[in-house]
Amino acid sequence: MAKPVLLIVDSDQKALDLIVQDLEQRYGDRRRVIGQTSESEALERLQKLKRDNEPVALLLVGQQMAKKTGAEFLKQATDLFPAAKRVFLTSYKDAKAGISALKEVGVDLVLMKPCQPPNENLYPFLDDLLADWETALSTSTPGNLIIIGYRFSPESHQTRDFLVRHGVSFQWLDVERDEEARQLLAAAGLKANRLPAVMFPDGTMLVQPTNEEIAGKIGLQVRLGHTSYDLVIVGAGPAGLAAAVYGASEGLRTVILERYAPGGQAALSSKIENYLGFPAGLTGSDLARRAVTQARKFDVEIIVPQVVTGVCVEGPARVVRLSEGSAVRSEVILLATGIEWRRLEVPGIERLIGAGVYYGGTLADASLCRGEDVYIVGGANSAGQAALGFSRYVRTVTLLVRRESLTSMSQYLIEQIGATPNINVRLRCEVAEVHGEQRLEAITILDCSTQQKETVPTHALFIFIGGLPHTEYLKGVVKTDDHGFILTGPDLEKLGGDHHPPLGWPLERDPFWLECSVPGIFAAGDARHGSVKRVAASVGEGATAVLFIHEYLSSNL
Ligand SMILES: Cc1cc2nc3c(=O)[nH]c(=O)nc-3n(C[C@H](O)[C@H](O)[C@H](O)COP(=O)(O)OP(=O)(O)OC[C@H]3O[C@@H](n4cnc5c(N)ncnc54)[C@H](O)[C@@H]3O)c2cc1C
Repeated sequence: MAKPVLLIVDSDQKALDLIVQDLEQRYGDRRRVIGQTSESEALERLQKLKRDNEPVALLLVGQQMAKKTGAEFLKQATDLFPAAKRVFLTSYKDAKAGISALKEVGVDLVLMKPCQPPNENLYPFLDDLLADWETALSTSTPGNLIIIGYRFSPESHQTRDFLVRHGVSFQWLDVERDEEARQLLAAAGLKANRLPAVMFPDGTMLVQPTNEEIAGKIGLQVRLGHTSYDLVIVGAGPAGLAAAVYGASEGLRTVILERYAPGGQAALSSKIENYLGFPAGLTGSDLARRAVTQARKFDVEIIVPQVVTGVCVEGPARVVRLSEGSAVRSEVILLATGIEWRRLEVPGIERLIGAGVYYGGTLADASLCRGEDVYIVGGANSAGQAALGFSRYVRTVTLLVRRESLTSMSQYLIEQIGATPNINVRLRCEVAEVHGEQRLEAITILDCSTQQKETVPTHALFIFIGGLPHTEYLKGVVKTDDHGFILTGPDLEKLGGDHHPPLGWPLERDPFWLECSVPGIFAAGDARHGSVKRVAASVGEGATAVLFIHEYLSSNL
């Protein structure tokens, strides 16, 4: 592949020369740096790059141009190179233009000229953006790994989804549509009733693999490195990852046990726009990737896929039991198992899960529905984000909302949805029935205002209807509320009628704020009773839990 291009457009020759020189110095060996003072010449250059099929990784654009604004230029440039990262170069007097570029053009970053010294004010930001661009390129470029399966098979969906959630690129071949799939199967002597099959670049193949088999092949850590730890964290969502980063960076030997993929619910978000420090927003998968890199930097072990089935106390040790039958001991346990989608109670839906009906659903799922009409159930932020993300791939997205307004959704999403012509919002609606034997063929929508039913054809129904914690694994050990949310600190006191220390608590001191009903077992994030259900809140709780964990370890009480 040709060197990816970094294009800078600024009418101020002096400022342009300085940035070109800085970029050459840092990135010149692996990327081609092009500077232009004229926006029309820059557009011509981009058109030529497009014709020559050359990649453009970055567009750095100033506001002042001869005939158009930087924001207008960026819109045109984005049509040519939609995946390029977009940076708006502004000055103190154009600061407002920078904010509008963030809102209207959705630029990835606004930088204040002259971005000096570059080590502080330029490179750290561009390094991050270029790493994101490269990851997106590698996951969207079919790798050497091939999955052969059926689009509407739950098993094929699970294999695809597991690889997507671990950021592994692959070529997907649908045995019903791709001749190449049939040829590869014939060459491998494999019958089409034994799918999915995953073919690896080393010539090996997994047939109807489990997630653990795939994890082993793609180099994930599936076994514990030690028999005991200072801190065992259950769940690698934002809360668990934040706790791991803080704990390990402060010297605790830390392991995270994750049953599916790091990032938790947040990794399903097509764009998180309200997490502090990322004004242009970032995808949940980028956030997860960054957090995992950060955790690994501090030697956190992330074991995946590993389902925790129980916890218990053995003298001073806290013990976590794993589904495979083994157990791991530690001084402290942090429970960060979040929540899972509530199930939609509609007759016949269970057999269609993964065969047209999806809980959550990623952009990778949406990309298989190109040109189709898809439906999303839910009226909160997660449904809104999905509608916006999916609208880029599909013909229409219809959002089915039970309430009479979008009051549970943030205003910024409501505005973006209103401005997206291929998203329809239907209020006071429910899915009454789903139809299809092998795959979803249609859904029946009930209009709750008129009680009228309407059946519409579709092959894709994505469900984003909030969730409940699945904390059955704590039963009989750690106290939860009636819905399964874990009780911690002051909530335990309330349980016993403001009793100090709470009834059943074995120590003289009260439990710490994030401590559960068993000393030395802590909880953070969405799984906790009274939690806020936000990325920032979960990260904050994960980090705060570590403070109390240190207190617990130092007093050992
Ligand atoms: C689509 C979507 C979009 C969202 N967008 C935003 C947003 O824009 N801004 C915002 O602030 N919030 C957003 N949220 C909410 C936010 O993602 C959650 O509040 C946050 O992820 C909660 O973090 P957590 O670590 O507590 O739990 P989770 O993210 O739920 O992570 C829990 C982890 O624990 C694992 N786990 C569960 N049980 C076990 C077990 N027994 N053994 C091992 N592992 C287990 C799960 O697999 C999961 O990875 C969004 C949520 C969704 C679903």
